[in-house]
Amino acid sequence: MKIEDYIRDIPDFPKPGVIFKDITPLLNNHQAMVETTDQLLKLVGDSKIDKVVGMESRGFFFATLLAARLQAGFVPVRKPKKLPYQTIAQEYDLEYGKDILEIHADAIQKGEKVLIHDDVLATGGTAHAVCKLIEKLGGEIVQVNFLMELSFLHGRKKLEPHQVKSLLQY
Ligand code: 5GP
Repeated sequence: MKIEDYIRDIPDFPKPGVIFKDITPLLNNHQAMVETTDQLLKLVGDSKIDKVVGMESRGFFFATLLAARLQAGFVPVRKPKKLPYQTIAQEYDLEYGKDILEIHADAIQKGEKVLIHDDVLATGGTAHAVCKLIEKLGGEIVQVNFLMELSFLHGRKKLEPHQVKSLLQY
């Protein structure tokens, strides 16, 4: 089974000129979803993981599946004012302007081993902000992994020195 057959290109979404990688066909198919989870787990190898962090919102799907298989907890990172308990925040740059991501202050304990997962690595701004949040809480980032990497945007450079892995490169 080829995972890429279950990812479709949507031209001009969410705005003109962008070709959006849509993973809903992958989620829609049980076999494709299980195969993707298996392959993402292979990227992690035998590393011990205490928490898997997924970012809103498409990062949640596979981060949760990975956490269950790794016998780890799942931690959501969300846009401002979505998380109900005490949070810490990290600002980051967008193409035009800035945005903020938040995590619950008690979600990760000092020294816990953390896997970060998101569906797409583009410029790396989002994942970089998540790394900072985890570091503020004292977590140890084992790996940052993605379903897809848009290599021409050089996002992995932004995430140095962390270990970055992706299943598919475009
Ligand atoms: P970055 O911060 O690396 O520039 O952008 C990555 C974030 O934007 C990820 O959270 C990802 O979900 C979203 N993203 C950017 N481009 C795409 C795309 O083509 N498809 C999907 N599914 N998400 C994208």
